[in-house]
Amino acid sequence: MGVSLTSQTLRTPADLLDAGLIAEADLAGVAAVAERYAVAISPAMAALIDPADSADPIARQFIPDPRELMHLPEERADPIGDLTHSPLEGIVHRYPDRVLLKAVHVCPVYCRFCFRREMVGPEGLGTLGPEALDKAFGYIASHSEIWEVILTGGDPLVLSPRRLQELMARLANIPHVKIVRFHTRVPVVEPERIDGALIEALKASGKTTYLAVHANHPRELTPEARAAIGRLADAGIALISQTVLLRGINDDADVLAELMRAFVELRVRPYYLHHPDLAPGTAHFRVPIAKGQALVKSLRGRISGLAQPTYILDIPGGHGKAVIEASTIRALGDGCYAVEDFRGVEHTYPPKD
Ligand code: SF4
Repeated sequence: MGVSLTSQTLRTPADLLDAGLIAEADLAGVAAVAERYAVAISPAMAALIDPADSADPIARQFIPDPRELMHLPEERADPIGDLTHSPLEGIVHRYPDRVLLKAVHVCPVYCRFCFRREMVGPEGLGTLGPEALDKAFGYIASHSEIWEVILTGGDPLVLSPRRLQELMARLANIPHVKIVRFHTRVPVVEPERIDGALIEALKASGKTTYLAVHANHPRELTPEARAAIGRLADAGIALISQTVLLRGINDDADVLAELMRAFVELRVRPYYLHHPDLAPGTAHFRVPIAKGQALVKSLRGRISGLAQPTYILDIPGGHGKAVIEASTIRALGDGCYAVEDFRGVEHTYPPKD
C-alpha cells in the first residue's frame, strides 16, 4: 500500500506533506529536523510507505522524526572514527590491506539512522574535486599493501556511469589493487539506475568487483529491486549484503529471516548485520546488544547457514569492527569445552563417551 506515486525524489517537508507521507500537524517537527539533517526519499521508497500505518518500517527509515534532535552524551558526530584514520581527503585507511574511497557524500535517500549523517547530504563533505582525487589515487598507488578499495560515501552509485568509468580506469592502473567493492543503496532505492551502462562502469577496473547491497526490511526488495539485483548478478558482480539492526524495523526474528533468505534467493550472500552506531539523534533506533545477540542466535536454528549474517559492532573511536554474536562455546578447563547447539542444549567437546 503506497502513497500517490511520484516521479521525483522528495526532499523537503512540504514535499512529504504534498505526497501524503506526513500530516499537517507533523510539519513543524519534521521541518526542525530537516534544518539539521538531509532529507531524501526516492520514488521507489515513497511508493512503499503506507501512511496509515504509524509503524511502517519503510517510513521509519526515511521520514524525519523529532527524536533525531535529542542528542545523547555518548553519541558522536563521527561514531566509527573515519576522521581518525583519514590521511587525506576522501581516504579512510583503518586496516592495513584496504581503504575506503569516499568520492561523493550524497545519497539517493537519507536514512534517518545514518552513521555518517554529519558528513552526507547537500551540506556534507561534498564531492572530491580533481586535485583531491589525484591525491587519493596517488595515495592508493603508493601503498602497495592496499589490496582492496571500497567505494562508499555517500553512495558511489549516484555518480554517472561516465564518472564511475573514469574512477575505475584509474584503479585499473594500480596492479596491487585486486578487489574493488561498492557499498550502495541504489539497487534497492533507485533500481532503475542499474542499467547496462552503469554495470559496465562498475566492472571497468578489470578487478574482481564486489557490491554490498544495503537493505533493512524484506519489503524493500520490490520486483524492480529484485530485477536490478538480478542484472548485477548476471553480469558476474559478486553480491553481499549489509543490514543495520533497527528497533521497530527489523528487530524481529521473522523479519530478519525473511530478509536474509530473500538475499540468498537473489544471489546476495548475507554479510554484515550492523549494530546501530552511536550517531547523533539515533537512540530510538538502537536495540540492546543482548537483544541483537538473541536474535542472531535464533536465526542459527531457523535458517540455512548460507543465510546467516555476521553481527558486528564498529567500536567507537575508529578501532574497527568486532563480531558480537553470543558465544556458543565455554571453556571447562583441561582442553574441554561446553558447546551449545541451536536448540540451546550443551554438549561436551571432546565427547566423553
Ligand atoms: S545510504 Fe548509507 S551513507 Fe547514505 S544516508 Fe543511508 S546509511 Fe547514510
